[in-house]
Parts: sequence; structure tokens; C-alpha cells
Amino acid sequence: MLGYVKPVFFVFMIVLVPGVIGGCMAANRARNVPVWCLLCALLPPLLLFIYFAKPLREVEGKFRQCSNCRKFIKWHEPVCKHCNSRQIESRTGKGDCHAN
Ligand SMILES: [Zn+2]
Repeated sequence: MLGYVKPVFFVFMIVLVPGVIGGCMAANRARNVPVWCLLCALLPPLLLFIYFAKPLREVEGKFRQCSNCRKFIKWHEPVCKHCNSRQIESRTGKGDCHAN
């Protein structure tokens, strides 16, 4: 019974995997999840595009804007990679640890 797997299942998996990954990355960048899900499913090379895409707005735990140059940096980066200015940690709110 297990000897034959429908080809449509393989197509489904090939489409589903990049679709889900693309959707997750779109969510992290505050972008349109269903659209990117579909685009990445149909055109997996677009995964690279969404990977390097800038977020549209701040996403808690993922990306935030530098307080100095307004460029997007990773949420937990203490120093902006664009202008090397130190980030204010107060906005993270919960679980504030005072690590120097
Ligand atoms: Zn900066």
C-alpha cells in the first residue's frame, strides 16, 4: 500500500515548504503573509527576496528601528549596525535584565 505515492503529493510538498517559510518570514517583516506565502510557493527563489526585504514597520521580538538613524535592525541588537549608536533598552519592557 505504501509503494505508490501520488505525484500530486510531491508537488504539494514542494509548494508547501517554501510557501510556509515565505509566510513566516513575511510575518516577521510585517508584510502580507498570504501574498508572500503564495508567491514563495509558486516561485521559491522569492524566498531570498523576502529574506533580504526590509520590514515595513517594527515587529516586536524581530525587528525595530534604530533610535538614531531610523534604519531597521534586529530586535535584540544592542548597537545599530548602520550608525553604531547604542540602542535604548527601555522599550523592550518585560523581562528587563541590566546586563552591561
Ligand atoms: Zn542607526
